[in-house]
Amino acid sequence: MLRESLKKYFGYDTFRPKQEAIMHSVLSGRDCLVLMPTGGGKSICYQLPAIVSEGTAVVISPLISLMKDQVDSLRQAGVEAFALNSVQSADDNACVRRRCREGACKLLYMSPETLLAELSGLLMDMKISLIAVDEAHCVSQWGHDFRPEYTQLGVLRECFSKVPMMALTATADKVTRRDILEQLKLRDPEVFVSSFDRPNLSLSVRRGLTGKEKLRAVTDFIAARSGESGIIYCLARKTTEKLAAELRLRGIHAAAYHAGMAAADRERVQGAFLADEIQVTVATIAFGMGIDKSNVRWVVHYNLPKSIESFYQEIGRAGRDGLPSDTLLFYNYGDLVQLEKFARESGQREINEERLARMREYAEAGVCRRRILLNYFGEAADRDCGGCDVCRHPPVRFDGSVLAQKALSAIVRTGEQAGFQTVVDILRGNFTPAVAAGGYGALPTFGVGRDVPPRDWRDYLLQFLQMGFVEVAYDENNHLKVTPQGRDVLFGRRRVELSRVERENPKPKAPRGAAKQASRRAPERETELWSAVGNGLEARKVSSSDEKLFDRLRALRAELAREQKTLPYIIMTDRTLRELAMRRPCSVEEFSTVSGIGDFKTKRYGRRFVEAIANWVEGDA
Ligand code: ADP
Ligand code: ZN
Repeated sequence: MLRESLKKYFGYDTFRPKQEAIMHSVLSGRDCLVLMPTGGGKSICYQLPAIVSEGTAVVISPLISLMKDQVDSLRQAGVEAFALNSVQSADDNACVRRRCREGACKLLYMSPETLLAELSGLLMDMKISLIAVDEAHCVSQWGHDFRPEYTQLGVLRECFSKVPMMALTATADKVTRRDILEQLKLRDPEVFVSSFDRPNLSLSVRRGLTGKEKLRAVTDFIAARSGESGIIYCLARKTTEKLAAELRLRGIHAAAYHAGMAAADRERVQGAFLADEIQVTVATIAFGMGIDKSNVRWVVHYNLPKSIESFYQEIGRAGRDGLPSDTLLFYNYGDLVQLEKFARESGQREINEERLARMREYAEAGVCRRRILLNYFGEAADRDCGGCDVCRHPPVRFDGSVLAQKALSAIVRTGEQAGFQTVVDILRGNFTPAVAAGGYGALPTFGVGRDVPPRDWRDYLLQFLQMGFVEVAYDENNHLKVTPQGRDVLFGRRRVELSRVERENPKPKAPRGAAKQASRRAPERETELWSAVGNGLEARKVSSSDEKLFDRLRALRAELAREQKTLPYIIMTDRTLRELAMRRPCSVEEFSTVSGIGDFKTKRYGRRFVEAIANWVEGDA
């Protein structure tokens, strides 16, 4: 019965790992805790049981925008879903209450505040099938999404002793898990932990680029992905505004988003991004929860994040629909100094320094980056992923002893009184004000590294920091110091292996879309990725004509979204559009077999899409 309903309402043929077991557990009346990465498919775990059960499922969600997304998506699938909240009119809310009392509502979304207010009213008058607490990590004080009202949800377990309760989250750490179980007072819960691997996300890092070089790299990166939605995360509000302006100058539809902006402006930017009207949002971490847009195709970190947790949550916003999506992290010395300072001055210095150290390990890795991430989340990954930049271009090592000696000698000769950039300038023989002020122009090391490009020097210095030959005196104007191990190198007692600096990001030249996506990856990865996408997509390679048809269907989707006053990705995911562009159904019946198309969407959209495809095929031929 579950499987039939999965097809009927959501248009999917099979369950993802753990989904079915979770549903059986809830339907048998048990409490459960579900830990799944973003995009893993948590929602269906309570939506489907709600659909097949008698009564109404109550879903607690922290944000009105999230509720709206979910309710709209369910309506698009033909499910009676409603939200009760403070932005709806009193009339609308009264209407929702009536429907719930009449049993004509399958899922009711509400905030914890509303829920507590309705506890002895509406909720007592209706038949509740199950209670789902979404984004359950909001109960934990230790995370960044803490919501005090969530901690009061413990009363639910007593008030509704016969109703099964579910808690769902994408936050995996043990403290959060313990907090959820304790605060929500779940009764003998079954705990489901999915793998946190997101095989459709590619992972890359670019190290040691200056501001200018980063801007060029980002512009190229976006140009290679014309029209595809992405998010750029920056550390500072000012950077988001500057970068967004630079991108706009280059003809890219970009907007900044940060917590310092007026609420109305933030809402406008977020709304336009969700509706595919803005291609790129350049944001601080304030742009986060509530971004359920399934077709974010890439996430760039313009600065190093503070921890792997934040990094993983942020890249997790890409590729929720399961299609291949890219992530790119820039890492340079300036970020490091800045973040060290934050950590040092934060209330929890040790914890934050440790978090930053783990983030650096990822950024500096010479081994598979996915393994580092999975190990961090406590999943033993026993083989390299083949899809990250390290796997695709394993570092080429060479004897860098002489280069190291030049740099270390330059540092020692400044009396260890120079910072990172000044050391580079000395090596390169640049007569900058700082070099002049220190009298470094007269040093024998001045200009000994002229044959090595500045970008490479910056990279090598980062490698020396990583290897512990050099350290930064954060309390002494960030001057570089040579460590005892560094002295061993300087005096020839120790050899140094360096990784060669990679020249350029391999730039895809192929047309946008899947063919290009695949060209950026190792061939052995390709099949795996596309089989992860599943449902017919692996059967054929994407051609450029599929690509054009995809664009046509994307335009049709935008038109339908406007007609229905909803968002494009709520009408249909990119993944469904891709499959339509490849399979080109000739009849409504064939249309209904495409993944993501249930009965309701077949009725509502089948004819429009089949016609658009037929017209296009005629015109194309
Ligand atoms: P989460 O809430 O865990 O971030 P969602 O519930 O939004 O993830 O699901 C992510 C995407 O995966 C959605 O587009 C959803 O429709 C899709 N999905 C969920 N379950 C399945 C399934 N069994 N088969 C195919 N797609 C699925
Ligand atoms: Zn890898």
